[in-house]
Amino acid sequence: MGMAKTWGEDEFFGLGYDFDPQWYLTDEQLALQERLIKACHDVIRPQAIQSDRTCEYPWPSLEALAELGLLGAIIPKKYGGRAENHVGIAMVAETLARYGCPSTAVVYAMHMVSVAALLFRAGGNEEIQSVLRRIDRDVFVGSASYTDPETGGHFWYPKISNVTRVGDDKWHVVKKSAFTSSSGYARWMVTQTTSPDFQGDYSDLSVFLLYGDEIQGSPGMWDALGMHGNQSGPVKIDAVVPMDRMVGPPGDGAASNDEAVDPLAMILFGAMYNGIALASMDLAKSYTTKRKHVQYARSIADYPTTHDTYGRALIDVQASRLYTFAMAEQLDRVTENGDWTLHERDPEAMPRTDYAVWCFKAKEIAARHASEVSDKMLQLFGGAGYGRHLEIERILRDSKAGWLMGPSNEITRQLVGRWALLGSEAVDWWNQRVDEGVLHSELGKLDSAGKREIIDKLSAELNDGAK
Ligand SMILES: Cc1cc2nc3c(=O)[nH]c(=O)nc-3n(C[C@H](O)[C@H](O)[C@H](O)COP(=O)(O)OP(=O)(O)OC[C@H]3O[C@@H](n4cnc5c(N)ncnc54)[C@H](O)[C@@H]3O)c2cc1C
Repeated sequence: MGMAKTWGEDEFFGLGYDFDPQWYLTDEQLALQERLIKACHDVIRPQAIQSDRTCEYPWPSLEALAELGLLGAIIPKKYGGRAENHVGIAMVAETLARYGCPSTAVVYAMHMVSVAALLFRAGGNEEIQSVLRRIDRDVFVGSASYTDPETGGHFWYPKISNVTRVGDDKWHVVKKSAFTSSSGYARWMVTQTTSPDFQGDYSDLSVFLLYGDEIQGSPGMWDALGMHGNQSGPVKIDAVVPMDRMVGPPGDGAASNDEAVDPLAMILFGAMYNGIALASMDLAKSYTTKRKHVQYARSIADYPTTHDTYGRALIDVQASRLYTFAMAEQLDRVTENGDWTLHERDPEAMPRTDYAVWCFKAKEIAARHASEVSDKMLQLFGGAGYGRHLEIERILRDSKAGWLMGPSNEITRQLVGRWALLGSEAVDWWNQRVDEGVLHSELGKLDSAGKREIIDKLSAELNDGAK
């Protein structure tokens, strides 16, 4: 508080620390944030502009993050990480997206989610532990390959996947993903398939670790509205891997989602889309205070309508930031300050799971505001905002991805609303509950012939099953 925010040698062009909830951060995290802002100035933001033009994968930015020990941010010290808590990585994701590069922030979030999936089941698995030790040292970027082409944003529903046992000591993993960040660039990935003894229950999922040479990615194929450096593309997996590449026991997928993947992903997305909204506000502050209309001797920032637009945007974004940081702080409270070794001591522990629905809300509110606020900020620029050199159009394009990243904001609102009104069971993640009301209502519309047709069809199915 009261400290000047710098950008290279100059004062920062956007909102100062007075508008940041710095009270959530420890002295060490404040110092880390300053170093990250410097890396954004020196490397990551110039690379963001370059990647936006050429779609190149932002390796220099990821190297800069590895130098700060941030690729392994949440990894316990015993595996060579920083042991950063949830508040710390929320700060990192927000700072990276705001001052640096939204595409790199998505790459970072998906990397961190896959690290979390490994940490959840690192105990007793030396292969996983060896990956954790390499993360910062080798810029060993991972990703989480979940979204299935047939089920889309319901990413926990891997229809096109299976795994079979090969002999006594191998798994044959088959999976198709529609989108995966860092496709063709990530050096390893975590993915989910249906379990080895799958019987049609899609909540029976298993988790796997695969290395780059076991994954068919699609480097250089990403051609999209925004997030040009993200290189999100299809992934195919058809690989025979050793037993210890299953992360956790067979059937651990739902627990992995509830305890590691979802809470982490939603907090990181919340934080990074808050960062994107702030990036647009920083640019708008700089532009509107400089751009003069000589006929009135006023800048755009002098108009009362601008105050209204900017004030409202700031209030919305601050509410979203406080929500994300408050949730991150609560996760710290229930996890011994973000200590992932608690899962090694007690593999049954699921302290984040109770807060999953709270974490989903963090993503929805942040992605909604990022999309709406960056839109409003573009309006403040007028026609000039269309020009690439002012950067607002890049931020606006990047902001749109949050709304549709799984679960999309529509799916998230339905999930939260249904859960709140009808209870957690009603969420019915894997579409297993029979809606008796609808079933009877539809059957009631049929005449006798229609009913007989259904009876015949069902009888045939039952007879087939009995054979
Ligand atoms: C930049 C980027 C990076 C990504 N990175 C990864 C990654 O690393 N790993 C990964 O696994 N995935 C990744 N994804 C995929 C992402 O998480 C989503 O799963 C994907 O974008 C969903 O797109 P879709 O076309 O399949 O949407 P669909 O699921 O087909 O949805 C289309 C529309 O239908 C709406 N909709 C869906 N269901 C309902 C419903 N029940 N009621 C009302 N409306 C509904 C949605 O809200 C949306 O508006 C990435 C996506 C992007 C854009």
